[in-house]
Amino acid sequence: MTGWSFETRQVHAGARPDPATGARATPIYQTTSFAFDGAHHAAEVFALRDLESHAYTRLSNPTTLVAEERIADLEGGVAAVAVASGQAATALALLNIARAGDHLVASSALYGGTHNLLAHTFADLGIAVDFVRDPDDLGEWRAAIRPSTRACFAEAVGNPRGAVLDVAAVADVAHGAGVPLVVDNTVPTPYLSRPIEHGADVVVHSTTKFLSGHGTGIGGVVVDAGRFDFTAEPARWPQLTEPDPGYHGLVFGQEFGDVGYSLRLRTRLVRDLGPAVSPFNSFLLLQGIETLSLRMDRHVANAQAVAEWLAGQPGVAEVHYAGLPGNPWYDAARRYLPLGVGAVVSFELAGGLDAGRRFVDRLELFSHLANIGDVRSLVIHPASTTHAQLTPDRRVAAGVTPGLIRLSVGIEGVEDLIADLALGLAAA
Ligand code: PLP
Repeated sequence: MTGWSFETRQVHAGARPDPATGARATPIYQTTSFAFDGAHHAAEVFALRDLESHAYTRLSNPTTLVAEERIADLEGGVAAVAVASGQAATALALLNIARAGDHLVASSALYGGTHNLLAHTFADLGIAVDFVRDPDDLGEWRAAIRPSTRACFAEAVGNPRGAVLDVAAVADVAHGAGVPLVVDNTVPTPYLSRPIEHGADVVVHSTTKFLSGHGTGIGGVVVDAGRFDFTAEPARWPQLTEPDPGYHGLVFGQEFGDVGYSLRLRTRLVRDLGPAVSPFNSFLLLQGIETLSLRMDRHVANAQAVAEWLAGQPGVAEVHYAGLPGNPWYDAARRYLPLGVGAVVSFELAGGLDAGRRFVDRLELFSHLANIGDVRSLVIHPASTTHAQLTPDRRVAAGVTPGLIRLSVGIEGVEDLIADLALGLAAA
């Protein structure tokens, strides 16, 4: 779909009228399995010689395929694999290239669930992860990389404090050490930020958030830029360069070139571990993506107004939003997110933990819940919820102080949002 604008591609990429019925909207193919034409066809599909046909919805599904092609197109990748959640996307993106005995380097400015996955569940699997305290310090990234490192990982815009990643600089460090950069682009979405254009090799999303926008379906996606040459150093990437016993000795990196990484992720990891997305959730995701740019423009305008208003309130010690001049990532945001930095706004209440609790309890319009990226405005107190499992030290490294409040600013009338926040501040 080269040549068409983002707005056109968010509506059309990957979709065509249904070949069987002519249905113009993408139908929900709510089926577990797809009939083969005969024994030869079935064998071709199982051996990955026929990649056009679908066999079983754990591996691929026509509704999900439209969502995958659309997101790959919007991110500028060669292929995408949709999975059951953002957590599954991050886990599989890294497990596709790291195994027991290997090592990863990750930013410390991460969603708490991602931190738990990397620090604890990956440790159980024998994969060690070092966290870079200051993701803007390239020397820290360089120093953390070892011969056993298999990837660098960071969020394009960190949840919850909104640190903007210098994607090009961290990609250079990773590539200098011969490893790919994997970026979680959930908070800005491909409308505001496209890490692949700046050197990232793999992008992951929780499609649960702004990509869907309606807060009705959990999902995730892994997008492959198709640029990282895993065959250049075969001993380092046996998953892609050695015969795969799960596929009669097929070598993914050789056989499938630039889509080897994504095809292995689908046909080894999603096949064997099973976090497939439901076709119904893929349908919901498609409904969301069609209006992505319209919603994000409104989210950004509301978030900017809310951030500016909060910055002028006496009970607010500090506002973290890279759209505000004076924010440490203001310049990085102008470079990487010229259309706006998204709608996650965090701020520090002068009254600390107790003020935080009183604030969330007083709000009426903002929903108090553990999500971001809904058309409805949302609020949470990260220190007691999303980041509660972290040690106090790690919490501080992730930017989560006791009085921090995280807002996901929705698309309602901004005057109503500000009136609600004023109630909260009065109570705090
Ligand atoms: N990445 C980020 C930045 C998130 O905010 C979240 C969820 O809050 C996830 C990943 C995990 O996504 P999911 O909840 O869809 O598993």
